[in-house]
Amino acid sequence: FHQLNNAKLTSQPLEVVSSYRSTSQLPLVVLVHLDLERGLEAWHKESGIIFWIFVALISAIALGGSVVVFSLARKHRLESEIQLLSTAISSTANAIFITDQQGRIQWVNAAFEKLTGWKQPEVAGNTPRFLNSGQHNARFFKKVWQTILSGQVWRGQIINATRDGNSIIVDQTITPIIDHYGEVSNFVAVHEDVTQRTEAENKARYLALHDPLTGLPNRHSFGDALDQILQGETATRLVVFFIDLDHFKRFNDNYGHDVGDKVLKMVAELLRNNLRLEDIACRYGGEEFCIVCPDTRLPDAYKLAEKLRTRIARQDILHVEASEEQVTISIGVAIYPNHGNTINNLIALADKAMYRAKEHGRDCTKVAEPDVIPGELNKR
Ligand code: GH3
Ligand code: MG
Ligand code: MG
Repeated sequence: FHQLNNAKLTSQPLEVVSSYRSTSQLPLVVLVHLDLERGLEAWHKESGIIFWIFVALISAIALGGSVVVFSLARKHRLESEIQLLSTAISSTANAIFITDQQGRIQWVNAAFEKLTGWKQPEVAGNTPRFLNSGQHNARFFKKVWQTILSGQVWRGQIINATRDGNSIIVDQTITPIIDHYGEVSNFVAVHEDVTQRTEAENKARYLALHDPLTGLPNRHSFGDALDQILQGETATRLVVFFIDLDHFKRFNDNYGHDVGDKVLKMVAELLRNNLRLEDIACRYGGEEFCIVCPDTRLPDAYKLAEKLRTRIARQDILHVEASEEQVTISIGVAIYPNHGNTINNLIALADKAMYRAKEHGRDCTKVAEPDVIPGELNKR
């Protein structure tokens, strides 16, 4: 009643559950009011707990869901990355193989198969010995192994053999893979085929240093070689020859330039075949050749000049379509250190001596100091 009255006073609705019972004997009515709020108080408490449990559950599910979604997204991203990496390695233009710690091949890419001609199933489990071209010695490979087994990257140029026996030049990088325990677990070898580039470089270098017609070193490389010899400790004595073909112009004029070229090649070949390994011959200019013979004395220089003169004159030049013609040469000789001690000096003196040989009627040898030439060598 108190609460009912209060409710009336405050004119707030108050939910109550009321029941009554009238007795038949007494004019008495038993009226029971039950305050709904109070009655449901326990239920409210329980439902509050249930609500928060529910919220916690939903939150846990949402969190779990987010974790799962995040994890799946991460897995997908990693898979994509691995896929990309794998595709990149498989389809890269560089030949790649991966070995185990013992150097046994586990995997090769398509470029490796294309470059070497060997297929993955044929090489799997083998060491890359089948690539050995025989161009490198055991010490070379020992050094490679020492480097990579110590966990360092090895870079260098290797000449490998393909399946059909051809040689290929590759710039190779071998990278050791270190596992979680700090041990080398695998090796990745990446090859870049530089065969064509190296051959082109070698060709360019060759052309820069050689005469294309005769294949002899040219004037520049001859100067460098002579310079090196003069600077070396063994340069105690050497001889420089300057050779000029006599009346060479007539070969061009009478038989054409092709025949002239053949004569020049024939002379170059003869020089090459009659010199020692340590001697160097070059085509100095048009129909002029120079020779340097290290560690040679004047008498030997005469002998060599005479030998060259007679052999060239004896040449059967039928094959150059001028059989009745004889090729003769005039030779000038300068000796280090007697006549000069610089390259230019020695060549200029030998050239001068050669001109004296021309003046003397050609087909003879003159030395930079005229008084040391034996008379018989100056006779034609
Ligand atoms: P000399 O006895 O005085 O040396 O007479 P020569 O005819 O040998 O000398 P000259 O200097 O008058 O002529 C040299 C010729 O060599 C002129 C040039 O056309 C020719 N010559 C230079 N280089 C080449 C070449 O690469 N091929 C050909 N076929 N001829 C060349
Ligand atoms: Mg000349
Ligand atoms: Mg000449």
